[in-house]
Amino acid sequence: MRKKIVAANWKMNMNSSTGEKLVNGILNGLPVLNENQKVVICPPFPYLAMVQNETKNVPNLHVGAQNAHAQESGAYTGEVSAGMLKEMGIEYVILGHSERREYNHETNAQLKEKVDRVLSEGLHVIFCCGESLATRDANTQNDFVENQLTESLFHLDAEKYSHISIAYEPIWAIGTGRTATAQQAQDMHAHIRKVISKKYGADLANDLTILYGGSCKASNAAELFSNPDVDGGLIGGASLKSADFLPIVEAMIKAK
Ligand code: PEP
Repeated sequence: MRKKIVAANWKMNMNSSTGEKLVNGILNGLPVLNENQKVVICPPFPYLAMVQNETKNVPNLHVGAQNAHAQESGAYTGEVSAGMLKEMGIEYVILGHSERREYNHETNAQLKEKVDRVLSEGLHVIFCCGESLATRDANTQNDFVENQLTESLFHLDAEKYSHISIAYEPIWAIGTGRTATAQQAQDMHAHIRKVISKKYGADLANDLTILYGGSCKASNAAELFSNPDVDGGLIGGASLKSADFLPIVEAMIKAK
């Protein structure tokens, strides 16, 4: 059965004290989640253990990292391996965020290797895709996103997809306050599901969780999540205050 997820991407924000207050604020207001409704908190690496410690007895609340390296180990100064994350009990890893594609020049081919490494450790990948404004203006977003999926995910065997969720994040909507309309989100999510269905079959595509990310907030989450192919969100700015984040979790629970 398709799961709903709201994932918090703190990016390079918070410190140990504000981070702990944020987690406690979330825990104080968190509704009861069933096993098909997940919340994933993705802090910077130094706060993973703190968030894990604060949340360890909360059902269906998970901790995720924002990146992992493609290699198992070695001379990669400043990097963190999927095995290290696995060892400390981290369950999710965001891969392919547009900020890492832009500032760290991560390519589809490199992301393919990262996906393999993270899956080989038994962790769940939240794989980000999404087009720039120029691509959207040229109306080639469907082909662009299909190519991202093809080059980074389509080498995988079908059974791996129980450990994959996709986050569609149009770059022009991330941190800009400009959200995709509910219709734009639904159209792309339906396209992604169609592309996955063509490659892996309708049952797998139907079970796949596809999140929307890009200026998703309390005021638009319910409308976005009411779309049949939008299964929750990857939340940046609005994940940094519990008062902003919790209504988004509520919207995910109430949706369809
Ligand atoms: C993100 O960076 O994943 C994101 C969706 O950011 P924001 O919600 O701030 O647009």
